[in-house]
Amino acid sequence: MAQLSDDCFAFGGPLMSVEEAQALIEARIPPAEGAEQVALRQAVGRVLAEDLRAVTPLPPFFNSAVDGYAFRHADLVAGSETRLPIAARLQAGQEAHPIAPGTAIRIFTGAPMPDGADTVMMQEDAREEGGAVLLAAGLKRGANCRPAGEDVATGVVALPAGRRLGPAEIGLAAALGFRKLPVRPLVRVGVFSTGDELAEPGAPLGPAQTYDSNRFTLLALLAGLPVEAVDLGILPDEPAATAAALAQAAAGHDLLLTSGGVSTGEADHVKAAIGQGGRLVFWRLAIKPGRPAAMGVLPKAGGNFASGGVPVVGLPGNPVAAVVTFLHLARPLVLRLAGAAPDRLPRFSARADFAYRKKAGRREYVRVRLDFGPGLPVARKYAREGAGLLTSLTESDAFAELPEDVTAVAPGDELRILPFRAAF
Ligand code: AMP
Ligand code: MG
Repeated sequence: MAQLSDDCFAFGGPLMSVEEAQALIEARIPPAEGAEQVALRQAVGRVLAEDLRAVTPLPPFFNSAVDGYAFRHADLVAGSETRLPIAARLQAGQEAHPIAPGTAIRIFTGAPMPDGADTVMMQEDAREEGGAVLLAAGLKRGANCRPAGEDVATGVVALPAGRRLGPAEIGLAAALGFRKLPVRPLVRVGVFSTGDELAEPGAPLGPAQTYDSNRFTLLALLAGLPVEAVDLGILPDEPAATAAALAQAAAGHDLLLTSGGVSTGEADHVKAAIGQGGRLVFWRLAIKPGRPAAMGVLPKAGGNFASGGVPVVGLPGNPVAAVVTFLHLARPLVLRLAGAAPDRLPRFSARADFAYRKKAGRREYVRVRLDFGPGLPVARKYAREGAGLLTSLTESDAFAELPEDVTAVAPGDELRILPFRAAF
């Protein structure tokens, strides 16, 4: 992993927009280095480390796009039906022989075009009669066939370095004959929860305790990213223990995520712990839910930054706020560390069926359910707004993203929708 300086997140302003935060991540986090070769099936979700150049064309040879009859366009009689004797039959996987002038070849999808043939008529448009085929007039030269390299020409970059490898990319790499792909190393991400009130799911619940959910949500969110996510347990609300745990974890991880303990309460020790061992930058994001977020850098080893720094993101404790800030801060940071090209979360438009008021100057994420019908989808607001309501996520499909300058939503307004189910 590349070197990180200790002031990489420095920011001067009072409230930071999501764009400013993402630009800072883009500017200050050095992109990943290194590569390992992995088999195609293991490459899903990984980040391509080098440009993938085609060493063969795709398709590899000139072939028929349909089931039909191949012939030389020059043999067609202008303006009327043409009758050509059928000289051979050619299926996908069979080697072709040159076509004799004045003949047609019965051909099937994916079979190589015989040398000399340049056009295919679909079987639906032709008629066989006594060993010959009757071809309707009006077909263009080159119809219904696929030139070699029409998809990818030899030598071009089929996939750029930094591309996250999904099903389409894996399929293309396979089609180009690659059995293994060079990918960036997985980012090792350690995840802590913080809070004296938290209990491990399954353990008996004390009178003032609640089960830790954020750690499992965050580990689940990380499961969709090119990381090796490591569960580092629950930290008590205790400054020295928090500082020691973070310092120790920094040695073995590329990124640390915590949740809780980043507001300005007396029991909010994450900021102090980051500041103690490393460099803290407290970000107040101009978003709701999710305003407080601690960003920082801890030395990788030995208490100084000589061997580089490890970024730490202190996400807010309220479960919905943790998810919103994860999507806007942790996710782009992970992708940057993983060497992935930046990707914007998907957005589309929907029509509000509700009225809502908000403060200017911050972006707000309102949980909505979407109904799809004719026209724009309809966004129905989840009845309650608390940032601690986990069911507001399980019972919703998306966030309506209300921009900074908006102060009210009225029924019928067009909304920008971030479909978090797709982002998960
Ligand atoms: P904090 O930011 O630590 O003050 O936490 C804000 C709220 O989120 C409190 O109600 C916490 O109990 C709750 N909370 C913090 N961390 C978690 C967690 N890991 N799982 C579930 N709830 C949490
Ligand atoms: Mg707490």
